Amino acid sequence: MTNYQICNHCIMDTTDPEITFDEQGVCNHCRTFGMIAAQHWFPGPEGNTKLKAIVDRIKKDCADNEYDCIIGLSGGVDSSYLAYQASQLGLRMLAVHVDGGWNSELAVKNIEIICEKLGIDLYTHVVNWEEMKDLQVAFLKSGVANQDVPQDHAFFAALYNYAVKNNIRYVLSGSNLATEGILPLSWGYDAMDLRHLESIHNMFGRIELKTFPKVNFFKRYIYYPYIRRMEVVKPLNYIPYDKDQAIKVLEKELGWRYYGAKHYESRFTKFFQAYYLPQRFGYDKRKAHFSSLIVSGQMTRVEALKEMEKQLYPPEQLREDKEFVIRKLGLSEVEFESLLQAPLKSFLDYDSDYRLRLVLSRIKQRLKGIL
Ligand SMILES: [Zn+2]
Repeated sequence: MTNYQICNHCIMDTTDPEITFDEQGVCNHCRTFGMIAAQHWFPGPEGNTKLKAIVDRIKKDCADNEYDCIIGLSGGVDSSYLAYQASQLGLRMLAVHVDGGWNSELAVKNIEIICEKLGIDLYTHVVNWEEMKDLQVAFLKSGVANQDVPQDHAFFAALYNYAVKNNIRYVLSGSNLATEGILPLSWGYDAMDLRHLESIHNMFGRIELKTFPKVNFFKRYIYYPYIRRMEVVKPLNYIPYDKDQAIKVLEKELGWRYYGAKHYESRFTKFFQAYYLPQRFGYDKRKAHFSSLIVSGQMTRVEALKEMEKQLYPPEQLREDKEFVIRKLGLSEVEFESLLQAPLKSFLDYDSDYRLRLVLSRIKQRLKGIL
């Protein structure tokens, strides 16, 4: 066991098992962020010009279509603010909301308000609850860290499937470097990896996933980008995206309401992030979140360390949420507690496309060097 160490620049520490530090005591996440940001993050005036060029291209390309692009709405800050910004840019959006069974009432209300006020057509996909439940229990039995794979996979897959169905090429994504530039791989393995999802479900699931939305390797890396020529656009990387400011704008302009913390729009995600991960693995996602805000200049390290002193889960709320999760998953308290005792596993303990993707990205890098 290595000794505890915390980065001198952000607040990531040795609870990330793969973290490394340079001679100045700065972690690999800070260094990687610097490299990625230089290529993909344009919060200054340059971003404006770049974004305008992208939007003009989309509008031109979609002039004959009913919609310019598709957007996934969760009711959270990122996707809500993205919808607001895209609307300001005059993009005609079709919104998709995927109901995985865990939405907080506030999140649903936020989605309704956004679509109504901004005049966006909304399609809601309701995931078959029996299948979702079976998959989620299978993931709990597997003992892996990322228990949000079932929800996240369904969100992305349903969004892409619906885009294809409606012949929409452009997908707006709220993913951004300003608020989520840092996340260790072992804390949150890729939810889009269908081989990983199915290997866990084959081992621990009970019923067949007949209607559960899926995206496989071929669709993700060949069909969508090369055959359907779909493109993911991340507008929040081209504007000075400040989370607190964004919340204020959403509240003032749309009557949107905040629900407490990043990704707490889902009651399961809240329980998973504030209880399962820290209790079982010692992973506190606030560290990654605040570190992202530090490297993007929205928070100081001192402020972040002070925030970390706050209680992660007030006991009364934890009790309520835990009861809710147990009831919703159709488990007894004893069954649930025994699931929380499952041996801790890495995503690498199960079949996945991780190694195949590593090989592909190396080939891609080499080709870039040659071309
Ligand atoms: Zn760091």
